[in-house]
Amino acid sequence: MSETSDPELGHRILLIEDNAGDARLVALMLDDAADGLFELQHVDRLEAAWERLPGTGCVLVDLSLPDADGLEAVERLQLLAPELPIIVITGRDDLGIAVEALQKGAQDYLIKGRVDGQLLTRALRYAIERKRAEIALAHQALHDPLTGLPNRALFVDRLEQALVRNARRSSTIAVLFVDLDRFKVVNDSLGHAAGDRVLTGLGERLSAVLRPGDTVARFGGDEFTVLCTDLEDEKEAFAIAERIAGALATPYDLEGAAVVLTASIGIALATADHPSAQSLIRNADAAMYRAKEHGRARWLLFDEAIHKRAVQRLETEVALRRSLDDGDFRLHYQPVVHADGDLVGFEALVRWQHPSRGLVAPAGFIPLAEETGLVERLGAWVLDEACAQARRWLDHPSSGRPLMMSVNVSARQLRSLSMADQVVAALRSCALPPGDLCLEITESALIEDIDATVEALEALHSIGVLLAVDDFGTGYTTLKNLKRFPIDIIKVDAGFVSGLGRDRGDAAITMAVIRLAHALGMTTVAEGVETQEQLELLRTLGCDLVQGYHLGGPLPADEALSRWRIPAGVGR
Ligand code: C2E
Ligand code: CA
Ligand code: CA
Repeated sequence: MSETSDPELGHRILLIEDNAGDARLVALMLDDAADGLFELQHVDRLEAAWERLPGTGCVLVDLSLPDADGLEAVERLQLLAPELPIIVITGRDDLGIAVEALQKGAQDYLIKGRVDGQLLTRALRYAIERKRAEIALAHQALHDPLTGLPNRALFVDRLEQALVRNARRSSTIAVLFVDLDRFKVVNDSLGHAAGDRVLTGLGERLSAVLRPGDTVARFGGDEFTVLCTDLEDEKEAFAIAERIAGALATPYDLEGAAVVLTASIGIALATADHPSAQSLIRNADAAMYRAKEHGRARWLLFDEAIHKRAVQRLETEVALRRSLDDGDFRLHYQPVVHADGDLVGFEALVRWQHPSRGLVAPAGFIPLAEETGLVERLGAWVLDEACAQARRWLDHPSSGRPLMMSVNVSARQLRSLSMADQVVAALRSCALPPGDLCLEITESALIEDIDATVEALEALHSIGVLLAVDDFGTGYTTLKNLKRFPIDIIKVDAGFVSGLGRDRGDAAITMAVIRLAHALGMTTVAEGVETQEQLELLRTLGCDLVQGYHLGGPLPADEALSRWRIPAGVGR
């Protein structure tokens, strides 16, 4: 029995065998054939094995021990050291028992008298390698490759186990849902390598502030979950949330720039009435979502109010889906007017004819539609319907000239691969000239991912439709980027217009935007014009087009037409 020589395969073998003769035989075989590869230790009872298990590379176990009968030894070894390869070495040549041993986790089943040194050595090497591969595979399946942290599956498993244990002990279990704010911005602006570094860094910071028994997992994307067990009370969970928020406050060094990232944290507690793992995670997620909406709260504890809101959101989502199938959406049309009074066109604004809530304004469902991806279907319907309406007006006897039809496009829609095809199809199906359609994209949607935006805008521009930046002045577009976008129209955000005549700063900004747009060859639209005074000021500032309640609010198509009695010869 010599020292290990091969660092890769060198292993201590623990032989559990009560027959001294058999034990000596094994030792001789290994000395002969293994050439110092293994270091053999020997005990004669299972009880004596426990303290030797640390540092052991493989166990050779006999099935007839004084303190363990048959496969009981395998079972108990497997329970105590599940990561350890086990080989049964026995006088019993019984296929049934052999199969059962393997099923119980043994790597191999050898029969005394039919083993020689070579065979034994090979069996040991195989058993160790196979176990190692098994463990690596199991690890891979349960861990996130980027951060090395447990993944969603393992987290849920640990939480389930903790809940079962807690049913007996009834201490407090907390699940914390941690989600980075504005992670997408880092990824888009600094690149995926920087994003990856933030995620690994975040994983390390989380692990550093937790107690050894706690679990931190990468739940997906930029979402991390934390499981804390055996808490005294909820205050301990709050303290952990504070520690996490504090740990995240240190800036990240990315490409030499110090980037500060914050996170929103939701907490859900499981106490006596042990809920399911899934519902705890869902509650922590809902609380995180509220914390994010809240903006100023770093963390929030799940409560009844959050529960109600989460249920409402779910109900709204279900109702939205149904309404998309049932065609419960309507378009209202708000006039866009030349500063001197002539009608230029209409902006289509979607409304939801909710089965019980009545007519719902976009603010009540567009954000949720964005989040759930439903906005793509909704947007496609809006586009088709608005084009069809433009065509009907074009064909109307009282109409002489084409009008501009403006359609709002969400960020998600803009970046969907089929957007340009959708636009072409919508125009073609009603033979609408591309120049009659204007697509409005909010400034904040444009700057989400500049390169992708430029590409998407260019595809649309080449179709011949007009492109407008909506809510301009709220998104901080740089001049450099503005020049890269093939934009025809800038819509000055209503926030600046409402200050005209009252706030000199707003007037200065409005004037600057109008000049800038004109210098770049773009047309300006002022939104939210509510008074005659504002209208006159805008005219003085040289604004091209206006829109707002002062000129006319959004109306259903037929009312819009009779109200505006589209005169022949007027338009663009
Ligand atoms: P937006 O594109 O900036 O549209 C202008 C909003 O201001 C409309 O609200 C309009 O009714 C309202 N408005 C018009 N004139 C005035 C005024 O003088 N004063 C004030 N205070 N408000 C005025 P609405 O219809 O509630 O739409 C809100 C937002 O929802 C829109 O803002 C747009 O971003 C979004 N939206 C509307 N329809 C669609 C759509 O079909 N698709 C997408 N993706 N978004 C849409
Ligand atoms: Ca708009
Ligand atoms: Ca707007």
